[in-house]
Amino acid sequence: MDENTTRTNCHEGGHAVAAIFQRVPFEYVTLDSTSQWAQLGHKLLVDWACDNATLDQIVNRSVVALAGPYAESVITRQAVDTSGPDRDAICRILQSYEPNHTARDSLWRYIQDKTVALVHAHWSFIVLTAEFLEQHRTLSRKWLVTELFKLSNDVGPIMDDYATYLC
Ligand SMILES: [Zn+2]
Repeated sequence: MDENTTRTNCHEGGHAVAAIFQRVPFEYVTLDSTSQWAQLGHKLLVDWACDNATLDQIVNRSVVALAGPYAESVITRQAVDTSGPDRDAICRILQSYEPNHTARDSLWRYIQDKTVALVHAHWSFIVLTAEFLEQHRTLSRKWLVTELFKLSNDVGPIMDDYATYLC
């Protein structure tokens, strides 16, 4: 994989792995921006609609959005690039929940800390997902969870309640 490929694959892998562990639903993760699965300029299919979302859901979805740029920054060793569709998604998510600026800032810091912890805890899964994306370009959530579970004894934290990740 060349540097740009690795970067993109890890970015999308970051979104997907975060979504699995944050229990944010998605159907597919793909490298193909022209595919029918691409939505909102985003390559991960997530239901971003946040009407009536709980604080937990707001945080979880924001972590999923930020995990892409953060995983990418681990590879590039540069500051997190939150410009573009991911930042727009996070702004939309946070504004829908918290109109107050100060409260929004502290929520944003909490989301950043949570994202950093998640990406580091599941880095081996993100790298595997990046490799799967390199081979197949588009992965269904179900396929990805099944493959990661098969390999989880070797590569990282064991997803012991595997069945619940498949729901
Ligand atoms: Zn992204």
